[in-house]
Amino acid sequence: MEVVGVDGETEMLKAIFLPFVSPGHLIPVVDIARIFAMHGVDVTIITTPANVAVFQSSIDRDSNGGHFIRTHVVKFPQIAGLPEGMESINASTPKDMASKIYEGLSILEGKFRQLFRDMQPDFIVTDMFYPWSVDAAAELGIPRIIYVGGTYMAQSAMDSLERFAPHTKVDSDDHSFLLPGLPHKLEMTRSQIPDRFKVPNDAYAYQMKIIKESEKRSYGSLFNSFHELEGAYEEHYKTVMGTKSWNVGPVSAWVNQDASDKAERGHTKVEQGWLTWLDSKKENSVVYVCFGSMNNFPAAQLVEIAHGLEESGHDFIWVVKKIDESQDDGTGAFLEEFEKRVQGSNKGYVIWGWAPQLVILEHPAIGGVVTHCGMNTVLETVDAALPMVTWPLFAEQFFNERFLVDVLGIGVSVGSKKWSNWNEFGNEIVKREDIAKAIGLLMGDGEENLERRRKVKALSDAAKKAIQPGGSSYNSLKGLIQELKSFKLQKVHRKPEPVA
Ligand code: UDP
Repeated sequence: MEVVGVDGETEMLKAIFLPFVSPGHLIPVVDIARIFAMHGVDVTIITTPANVAVFQSSIDRDSNGGHFIRTHVVKFPQIAGLPEGMESINASTPKDMASKIYEGLSILEGKFRQLFRDMQPDFIVTDMFYPWSVDAAAELGIPRIIYVGGTYMAQSAMDSLERFAPHTKVDSDDHSFLLPGLPHKLEMTRSQIPDRFKVPNDAYAYQMKIIKESEKRSYGSLFNSFHELEGAYEEHYKTVMGTKSWNVGPVSAWVNQDASDKAERGHTKVEQGWLTWLDSKKENSVVYVCFGSMNNFPAAQLVEIAHGLEESGHDFIWVVKKIDESQDDGTGAFLEEFEKRVQGSNKGYVIWGWAPQLVILEHPAIGGVVTHCGMNTVLETVDAALPMVTWPLFAEQFFNERFLVDVLGIGVSVGSKKWSNWNEFGNEIVKREDIAKAIGLLMGDGEENLERRRKVKALSDAAKKAIQPGGSSYNSLKGLIQELKSFKLQKVHRKPEPVA
């Protein structure tokens, strides 16, 4: 078969993307798939009905605009006790349902493998949570590229913990220790690191071991990052892992240039009233408070946030998950009262459920962000040139906090002390006075704050250049596509093995 086209270019590369089913992974992988399609790759995204619903419209727009991109929807299997349509792990997913969703995904593995065989892609891009896909790609003789969620810095920090176990050499959970071997001197406490480094036979530690092994055997890794943000950690990571990686970030800015793409990213229905409210506010005067797509704070913490925001004296937009009536202990009424009060005083705006984050971040009235340090939000906030109050909760967020505060100098820590499993908060509550104080520092006009703003503006400028022709992420993507084309050509020209 000949694969050289009339213009001497190889025929179009065909790719399959398989995103994971939580928004913090699904959203960037869909963005990356669209970026590949923007650059001439024929892309199919495989997912399930409830997941496709949140991004199909942007794929339709791309496809109508001439890009070769489509979705392939696979029915989610019926699992005993799992309500129909519950196919995503997010803030509304009850904890005991997450394992059932995993069960459904493992049933789908055979179907996904069959689709890879039927569609015959030239390469696959699959989320880190599908480690089996490295073998599926090997069977087909094609590259598997892994999407690694998280920053290079967090990955490097976790490697440091695994390699040197510094947390085992301190006497208490509150004593800080240095993360050895990293490009910067960074300190953490044992209470801030994930359980999997501390708890013997932790199930997630086992899962991560399998994921890391599959990463090492993959063709390479994709990161939603850019060289100017964390180049030192990129080099460090490549060295310790001994693998290739490419940066394609910030993915949000690269592909969501259309107003509808920005507004609908990650969700179908979003409320609009906030825009009129924000339009009435002065430049840089409003703080945007959002804890990502997975967070579900307990009542006591919501109450502290509400008071902290009011005490700060600054205007705010707060994204809050609607309280489930069946579990409401009176907090629902408290929040409604709070909403009425801040609407009355015109000090705040509550967005229930899901906010169109990209559109809000680029509004000139927004002057700072309170974040849980999820890496997508970090990239989006840096791109928007906004400093942050860092309030890490779980996953790799405490490492990102160190990076934002100690390395980049663009974050103010709220003083969150304890890593928890997803939505398990224990007695750890961040107090209203700490919240108000951190917001005061973030939004004030002291020299330190101006310095944070200068630093984040420089990073934002670099982010914008990175995705332009000739920029670091642009070149990284082009280089990868070129490499994949060569791989395809070599594969086609490789002589078949003689039959014995
Ligand atoms: N997001 C959003 N609106 C919301 C909450 C989250 O658009 O109300 C998006 C946000 O822009 C980001 C993603 O969801 O792209 C969340 O990813 P992140 O890594 O920040 O945190 P996670 O949800 O994985 O904890």
